[in-house]
Amino acid sequence: MYGSGIIKGLGVTLKHFVATYIEDLRYVLKGGRYTDQAMPVRQGPRARGVFTVQYPEERLPVPENFRYIPFLVFDTQKNEDKCTSCGICAKVCPPQCIWIVRTNDPKTNRPVPQPAEFYIDATVCMSCGLCAEFCPFDAIKMDHDYELSSFERFNNLVFDKARLTKPDTYHAQIHPTDWAREQAEIAEKAAKDAEKAAAAAAKKAAAAKPADAPKPADAPKPAA
Ligand code: SF4
Ligand code: SF4
Repeated sequence: MYGSGIIKGLGVTLKHFVATYIEDLRYVLKGGRYTDQAMPVRQGPRARGVFTVQYPEERLPVPENFRYIPFLVFDTQKNEDKCTSCGICAKVCPPQCIWIVRTNDPKTNRPVPQPAEFYIDATVCMSCGLCAEFCPFDAIKMDHDYELSSFERFNNLVFDKARLTKPDTYHAQIHPTDWAREQAEIAEKAAKDAEKAAAAAAKKAAAAKPADAPKPADAPKPAA
């Protein structure tokens, strides 16, 4: 019959349209508030109904391992950059879009483990995440911020150190699992260092004991 396909298609559309409201009602009746928290439910693999996201008013939450242009982590406890300007990230970056200028001590002219400048060309970066994988100091991480479009390439999309740097609290917020792993590793290293220091102190004390012990000649003589 002519038109049966159209009617069938309209039926599917109507089914999804009605299912949207049924799903939302179910979510609200279960105690969920109709805010951003509803999005993972509405957009989840088991959700039914209309899946349209009213971007930019609505945004889908990104998974923790979502990765976009990297950022540099600033250690808020020590109040310093975590980056030591070792240059490993620049070496492993496949499209070679990282430039680092090392800091030199003005008195001795010797390198200081801090970057004076750090640039990433966001128009070249392919968000592969290799820089973050290879960084031995957990100083560079992949970001979740994907809204970077701009008309000015060189002014706005070659990111300098100030633009790239974000506090470690931001890293903890967007990568809680990675952050917990890092904290566990730091605590483990601190415990091992303390154990080593205690063992070294005990060894030193044991080595010093015979010298400190009174010699037989120095021993007090019994009273006559
Ligand atoms: S971000 Fe990491 S790998 Fe890159 S220069 Fe800094 S410390 Fe080295
Ligand atoms: S994410 Fe990949 S392409 Fe982008 S700066 Fe890091 S290594 Fe280079």
